[in-house]
Amino acid sequence: MKLNEKQLQDFQKKFGNILNERDIITDHDTIAPHLVDWVGNISGSSALMLTPRNSEQVSKILRVCHEETIAVVPQGGNTGSVASGIPNGEIILSLEKMNNIISIIPEDYSITVESGCILSQVQDAAQEASRFFPLSIGSEGSCTIGGNISTNAGGISVLKYGNMRDLVLGLEVVLADGRIMNNLKRLRKDNSGYATKHMFMGAEGTLGVITAACLRLFPKIENKVTAFASLSNLDATIQLLETLKSFSGELLSSYELIPKIGLDIALKYGDELVSPISDPQEWNVIIEYSDTKNNDNANDSLEYALGNAIEKGLVCNAAIASSLSQAQNIWKIRKAIVEHQPKLGGEIKHDCSVPVSSVPEFIRSTTQKLIDYLPDVRPVPYGHIGDGNIHFNVCPPSNYDPDTFKQNTEEIREIVYGNANSFGGSFAAEHGVGQIKKKQMLNYKDEVELQLMKDLKNLLDPKNILNPGKIF
Ligand SMILES: Cc1cc2nc3c(=O)[nH]c(=O)nc-3n(C[C@H](O)[C@H](O)[C@H](O)COP(=O)(O)OP(=O)(O)OC[C@H]3O[C@@H](n4cnc5c(N)ncnc54)[C@H](O)[C@@H]3O)c2cc1C
Repeated sequence: MKLNEKQLQDFQKKFGNILNERDIITDHDTIAPHLVDWVGNISGSSALMLTPRNSEQVSKILRVCHEETIAVVPQGGNTGSVASGIPNGEIILSLEKMNNIISIIPEDYSITVESGCILSQVQDAAQEASRFFPLSIGSEGSCTIGGNISTNAGGISVLKYGNMRDLVLGLEVVLADGRIMNNLKRLRKDNSGYATKHMFMGAEGTLGVITAACLRLFPKIENKVTAFASLSNLDATIQLLETLKSFSGELLSSYELIPKIGLDIALKYGDELVSPISDPQEWNVIIEYSDTKNNDNANDSLEYALGNAIEKGLVCNAAIASSLSQAQNIWKIRKAIVEHQPKLGGEIKHDCSVPVSSVPEFIRSTTQKLIDYLPDVRPVPYGHIGDGNIHFNVCPPSNYDPDTFKQNTEEIREIVYGNANSFGGSFAAEHGVGQIKKKQMLNYKDEVELQLMKDLKNLLDPKNILNPGKIF
């Protein structure tokens, strides 16, 4: 849907009855950053962006849109990885100005926020109240709670605290026709019928606009211990995970796979990073323990578990960070892999999951299939292995023409996602479907489940005005 000049003026007038002039944005330079996804692969278009300041305004906007069949794309921080917030001519409904912390109730371990709050703002507010909000992702300084809920964001703490879905107690959602669903409750238990709030989590803005959320908080973390361990082989990654869980239980909060090729990328291109150990092997992991007690408990427990894993031959070498800067160096390596991978001549990104116990075989067989397809191709499988979530990114052979490599995108995606599917896995572990994985949705989603999703979409948004063209 492209707006012509007359429609644009018409819309400005309609929304002028609802919003202040400064919240109706037509300036191209202001809108431009909202039209490109952060990966830079997909760009869109929009002549109009609305920035409401409260739920009532969102409700009135959607009532007009519903009556007149005008499509909108909800947007938070625009850090999504599957271009689900990129408009294709539709109006952008940005929640960025709805960024108030509504309340924190420490005794209930809950925080209620408007959906445009930046994730790090919520983490900080929890910290100030001697509480902890565990969602932790690389974009936490820019992404919003509304976006986190709508993508059911994951990140490095899922192992201990679950996905965003597990952190939501209640929601306020504006439906496509403008009605406000108020489920903003602080309850841990509420079995009064269907769990409707869950429909909007992971829905990528296609079923309703989330305007506020009540989130779970946890006891404040007083001590974190970070380690980097080199493993004897790929199978040892899962055996070590089991060892850590059985020795230390709830202390284990992150477990991330770092392949040697990823470490090399980080050390070569990252800013003054050093290898945490002198002889890294092919497969390495970052381990983090989090403790609510400020004593040696976490450190001792990790040291003991790693010692046991060395004795069993699972771990060749390991280093426990003895200072904040050493711990930061380890986590910067993880971040640098994401940032600098394209410098290997391009990359084809994948976000998939398989059952945790299948990860080693999945990595081996996918790598073999990729090599059969394109000899010397360089897979970089890394990430949240503790949850079975692997970012199986693929870089071209050295000195390979990047454009020629890009032309193989569809085939390579099919190899990786097809293989994940054969392990009972998912082609969309934590980033969603958006515009990028619609084909996989048709190929791999259970037919009945897909139809149920379409029925739900029809029921909640019969005129298809909420983020059309995404997911399906
Ligand atoms: C460096 C980096 C690291 C990342 N690491 C991770 C990671 O570890 N784990 C992970 O899961 N993701 C990760 N991401 C992806 C991204 O940050 C998450 O998907 C995040 O949750 C998106 O939030 P956002 O506010 O930017 O949403 P946007 O990109 O603005 O929108 C995403 C989707 O949500 C919808 N939406 C946004 N706000 C609302 C609302 N209020 N109501 C209804 N729908 C809405 C949009 O329409 C769109 O479909 C990373 C991204 C970057 C750039």
